[in-house]
Amino acid sequence: MAKVELRDVWKKFGNVEVIKGVSIDLDDGEFVVLVGPSGCGKSTLLNLIAGLETLTSGEIRIGDTLVNDVPPKDRNIAMVFQSYALYPTKTVQENITFGMQTRGVDRAVQDKALADVSQLLHIEQLLDRKPGQLSGGQRQRVAMGRALVRNPDVFLFDEPLSNLDAKLRIEMRTEVKKLHLRLGKTIVYVTHDQIEAMTLASRIAVMDNGHVRQFGTPEEIYENPVDLFVAGFMGSPS
Ligand code: ADP
Ligand code: MG
Repeated sequence: MAKVELRDVWKKFGNVEVIKGVSIDLDDGEFVVLVGPSGCGKSTLLNLIAGLETLTSGEIRIGDTLVNDVPPKDRNIAMVFQSYALYPTKTVQENITFGMQTRGVDRAVQDKALADVSQLLHIEQLLDRKPGQLSGGQRQRVAMGRALVRNPDVFLFDEPLSNLDAKLRIEMRTEVKKLHLRLGKTIVYVTHDQIEAMTLASRIAVMDNGHVRQFGTPEEIYENPVDLFVAGFMGSPS
């Protein structure tokens, strides 16, 4: 587990300011959901935490480390995207263990990690299949498995369920919640789905146009929205 701190984070693409002075602190083991309309900067903020984009200014800390100049692989994070990005020609087992292989992890350790995550995600029966032989939900489980075996302190999820149909989305939402309860890791989770945010989050950051308008528990945000934007977006009673 690790805390994550964002201090006055700015990001410009060319002359366009996309993240405009975001400061939030996530506690150890918290499940923070970033919500907001399309284009408000959710993915960019997540990519800044991951190190996939560099800050224009500000500071990001993971644990006690200032990570502004730390490359993604050394940040103690793992990321799951909306598109599954599995290797199509590799089996499920190879997809999950590939990262460990390239890092030269001991074979016995690899096998143990694979067995653990397959059990946790209920994919033991799928290990010899190729991604093309899996359903959307199964592929997303494999993508999560690949993130889990890295055993990072922080998980970053960018709309991991938005490609799934409604029924599967609700089922996977429950799985994600269980994973968090079980592992207790710090999670930053992006969605544009308010219900998903309300069900999963310990705290929600409501974003609009590069700003975090409000950061609070689902109850606080729903009961006491700070402005009309938050109230409207979260469907609070007026
Ligand atoms: P969200 O994930 O909330 O939908 P994004 O973080 O993807 O929003 O994008 C926020 C804004 O930044 C959008 O206006 C988008 O067009 C712009 N943007 C994102 N990535 C880039 C990039 N690499 N270059 C230029 N503009 C970008
Ligand atoms: Mg996005």
